[in-house]
Order: sequence, then C-alpha cells, then structure tokens
Amino acid sequence: MRPSYISLLGDRRPLAARNVEAAKAEIAHNENMSVEALSFSVNGLLLEDETLLAGDIIVAAEVDGGAKGKKKKKNYTTPKHVSHKRRKVKLAILKYYSINDGKIQNLRTNCIGNCPDGVKMAIHHNRSHCGRCGITMFKEDA
Ligand SMILES: [Zn+2]
Repeated sequence: MRPSYISLLGDRRPLAARNVEAAKAEIAHNENMSVEALSFSVNGLLLEDETLLAGDIIVAAEVDGGAKGKKKKKNYTTPKHVSHKRRKVKLAILKYYSINDGKIQNLRTNCIGNCPDGVKMAIHHNRSHCGRCGITMFKEDA
C-alpha cells in the first residue's frame, strides 16, 4: 500500500517517503511546518524515525497542553469583573427609622414574605428586596 497522509485541511496526499523520518521531512515541507512540530503515533504509541510506513498518517497540529507542557495562558481583553463586596454599615438599623415630633417613622417596609418581624426590605430604585428570604417586590410606578 502506497503511504499517504491526511493533511491539516483533511485531504489525502500521497507520500514518497517510506519511513517516518523521511515522511516528517516531506510533510513538514509540504505543510510549511517544522519537523519538530510533527510527531507520529499509532494507537497512542510514538513512532520512531526508522519505522517504515504502512497506511495513512494523519497530520495534527501540535496542541497546547497535554504532555507537551502547560497550556498557554489565555489573554483576556476585557477587564476583570469586579464582584460586589458587602460593606459593613455600622448601626444600619438607625437609617431605617426617623423620628418626627417624637414619633417614630418606619422608613423601610417590613418583609412581606415569611420573615419574622423586624426584617426589612432593601430599597432599590424600582423594587424592594428582602435579603433574608429573597423576595422581590417591584414598584408599580417604575
Ligand atoms: Zn423576607
């Protein structure tokens, strides 16, 4: 059987070479690759240069990673997402009430979910949210 190889493009090309060493040189020349980038293996076993060819060689570009070393670090083009950090607000409960003429006014809605008394809902521009049970209530005028 006349040796041939499957190129990176997937088409079959004939080989004049009769052993692995010559085939490497031939394929490297044809495919514009370096000989070092080529390695031939059959069923996971690397072929020695002196091995005579029998059948098709499938050319695969050298892949980063695997046994050849660490994978190249990916270069990100967009800035890293800055995750929300919870800031500790001391005595935040004081902001939940105001005192007018000696009367206490509740500025935050109590949670309408299943939370016990005293659990307030956070106020956002268009909704109220309970951080304890996760309920969200949208304002109608938003
Ligand atoms: Zn709740």
